[in-house]
Amino acid sequence: MNTYLNFQKHLTDEINAIKAEGLYKAERIIVSPQSVKIRLQDGQEALNFCANNYLGLSDHPGLIEAAEKAMKNRGYGMSSVRFICGTQDLHKELEQTIAGFFGTEDTILYAACFDANGGVFEPLLTEEDAIISDSLNHASIIDGVRLCKAVRYRYANADMEDLESQLQAAQTQRFRLIVTDGVFSMDGNVAPLDKIYALAQKYDAMIMVDESHSAGVVGKTGRGTTELFDLRNRIEIITGTLGKAFGGAIGGFTTGKKEIIEMLRQRSRPYLFSNSLPPSVAGAGIYTFHLLDKSNDLQNKLHDNTNYFVEKMQAAGFDIKPTQSAICAVMLYDAKLSQEMAARLLEEGIYVTGFYYPVVPKGQARIRVQLSAAHEKEHLDKCIDAFVKIRKLMI
Ligand SMILES: *Cc1c(COP(=O)(O)O)cnc(C)c1O
Repeated sequence: MNTYLNFQKHLTDEINAIKAEGLYKAERIIVSPQSVKIRLQDGQEALNFCANNYLGLSDHPGLIEAAEKAMKNRGYGMSSVRFICGTQDLHKELEQTIAGFFGTEDTILYAACFDANGGVFEPLLTEEDAIISDSLNHASIIDGVRLCKAVRYRYANADMEDLESQLQAAQTQRFRLIVTDGVFSMDGNVAPLDKIYALAQKYDAMIMVDESHSAGVVGKTGRGTTELFDLRNRIEIITGTLGKAFGGAIGGFTTGKKEIIEMLRQRSRPYLFSNSLPPSVAGAGIYTFHLLDKSNDLQNKLHDNTNYFVEKMQAAGFDIKPTQSAICAVMLYDAKLSQEMAARLLEEGIYVTGFYYPVVPKGQARIRVQLSAAHEKEHLDKCIDAFVKIRKLMI
């Protein structure tokens, strides 16, 4: 008896249903380093406007050299979790460097921010406590909250009236933790951390910010939302990734109050039961944060590029969501149009992604453009010109 047959049919049906809905995700294969100019397997070259390569560090020679040096001196892999024999001097140095960057007390590294978020709630809070979470928070926060027994409250995206009523409802719990993304990935809007902080003071709550899309980007020197709102060292928990602005390889972290980090080292399951970051990633990470300490050139260029792009696109008549990050949503509202336009932009050598329901609300289809410090003005102009050309052909 073929025990797999029924399950196989079940999966095939489900996958066909995903395809029929137009939600099937195909992978486009790149045969060059991640960069502004990428080469695809079919030989096509494209300008990349859909990577989280905000500071252009994915193929930066300094990071590559730092990674090579760390690999030469400290080997390829750690073959251990941190608390058995997986901690090198490089891991401790990277943790302290990250704390210095964010102005926090201590840092704990993870294999990814998905793990940082997955492992942050359950060790700290119990059924006596409350987690109050923004409705648009990242999937890894939602999963992390599910693993924790705390009572869950949800507020509409960045809606401070709703947050206030949820905080009022949560007053009977012992501790309260408000959780928000720093930048929301679909609109590029920043969480109103100043207002969240005021409400947290009023209703005796702690705050956690996931700075994955905001660290390296938001704030004058790219220190994230705590810099933008002048709240450095006043937020209890910050999580972030090394997989976006900071080189884009792999790795995540939680940084904040030292007792919180200490407890996570004792009880956070993705930390206790998953492998240590490779030395090359730790070494390149240290290099990255020192590079950003020495100069603000990359952050300045990213901010200039974003302003330039948004202004030119608006002047060309495109409907751009107000952004405070390097994410720029070009609103088209029509799902089919967003897909066709993205496909035709790729034919013009501009790689962007179209999003529609259920990734964004119904009738809110858009093309998301992500800017980078690695883009030059000529790249931005090419992208804008292509948008104008394709719109003329399509609408
Ligand atoms: C990308 C992202 C993550 C996941 O980070 P990884 O390090 O890739 O696991 C978590 N949270 C937010 C808000 C993100 O944007």
